[in-house]
Amino acid sequence: MTRRQDNIDVPTTAEPTAFGKKVFVRTYGCQMNVYDSDRMTEVLAREGYEATDTPEDADLVLLNTCHIREKAAEKVYSELGRLRKIKDERARDGKSTMIGVAGCVAQAEGAEISRRAPVVDLVVGPQSYHQLPGLLNRAKSGEKVVETEFDIDAKFEDLSRAAVKPVRQRPPSAFLTVQEGCDKFCTFCVVPYTRGAEVSRPVSQIVEEARRMAAEGVREVTLLGQNVNAYHGEGPDGKTWGLGRLLRELAEISGLDRLRYTTSHPRDMDEDLIEAHRDLKSLMPYLHLPVQSGSDKILKAMNRKHTRDEYFKLIDRIRDAAPGLALSGDFIVGFPGETDADFEDTMDLIRRVEYGSAFSFKYSQRPGTPGATMANQVPEDIKSARLLELQALLTEQQRAFNASRLGMVCDVLLEKKGRQPGQLTGKSPWLQAVQVDAPEDLIGTIQAVEIIEIGSNSLFGARIGRQDEHLSTAPDLKEVAFDA
Ligand code: SF4
Repeated sequence: MTRRQDNIDVPTTAEPTAFGKKVFVRTYGCQMNVYDSDRMTEVLAREGYEATDTPEDADLVLLNTCHIREKAAEKVYSELGRLRKIKDERARDGKSTMIGVAGCVAQAEGAEISRRAPVVDLVVGPQSYHQLPGLLNRAKSGEKVVETEFDIDAKFEDLSRAAVKPVRQRPPSAFLTVQEGCDKFCTFCVVPYTRGAEVSRPVSQIVEEARRMAAEGVREVTLLGQNVNAYHGEGPDGKTWGLGRLLRELAEISGLDRLRYTTSHPRDMDEDLIEAHRDLKSLMPYLHLPVQSGSDKILKAMNRKHTRDEYFKLIDRIRDAAPGLALSGDFIVGFPGETDADFEDTMDLIRRVEYGSAFSFKYSQRPGTPGATMANQVPEDIKSARLLELQALLTEQQRAFNASRLGMVCDVLLEKKGRQPGQLTGKSPWLQAVQVDAPEDLIGTIQAVEIIEIGSNSLFGARIGRQDEHLSTAPDLKEVAFDA
């Protein structure tokens, strides 16, 4: 599970349609919500909706919410307060506005949302987006609609339908959901309750969607799932395929030069997937593999289902197969019962593993999860002090990793305009942002770039002349020591 990319507004550029209705979608939370927002907009485009980037302009406003952050529901209610004013103003101009709440807060709160915020016409859980047109029709007739069933197979089937036309220009790098839900029940996490049990899309659906993306100019696909490496979809041979085999299939698609996946659980890192990192040039040398804690006692209390030693052994196997792969992780400090010694175990684990990047958080109680009612909650000031110490170490490791790229030549996928005129922003194989002086017509190409400067948030690179060759995007990893 990842927790970043807050408050991303999606999307803005659908063509006008005969119906002239406009939809504004605001996205909170993880990459899967970004992906879902795009799919919702596609479903609505089939009905004639055009996307807009301002709620004041919209006949339909959808909040695609996230339940991971603290006080997530309260933030949604205060946003709904702002939207109520917009709805009232539009009503004074004779325009009607429908307001819908989607995503994990919708799933968790259900009918409570329309009770507390009567401005809401529609509450729709993450597995029901494909039903949006029908649900909207019911809402238009005055019904307060709440749809939070876990009908995920139907959703996946609908995802496979091509949009009438692309809602917006596909970016060179795109997300593709392959799996949803989680069966792990980590005691701090709401995902198994908001997204339900693990369900994997069939291989044929994923391959079809990936081919379509490649045909629309996508060069890099990140496979998404709350527990993506638990993927177990039906293959074309009728057998169950794991993520490694799926990646091998996707690697055959012409034009898809880069593959990534997120987010993984250590328990589901099987041999085939590790070997895929060894064998597939298009599988980028980066792995986000959250461990959360380095203490066996806390791992057990978190119900993570593995020990620190098992994690170390796994990291060794992965690094043996793919030397130079950049590791990323998630850490939670201050889980109930965490002592100074437990925290020191986490610091020790970080020192031993050496991360290229990581995300870290203070534990916060999520209503409905076992952790929320555990005894020995850690005081806030201790959590803050531990987080500072842990982040200082992770930042030091990230800087060292970035510095080790200086002078290296690597392939960079140029994705969009940079901050400075004449500059483009791209991604290194290790998921670092790289700023490169290059003309705009190179957006969507992969360029050989020498890393010439290390900034605090990104790297700076100079093209070395080789044109995009549709080839491997990673250098010979054996030459790239992680801690060089
Ligand atoms: S593996 Fe744990 S943290 Fe990740 S989504 Fe499942 S329950 Fe949440």
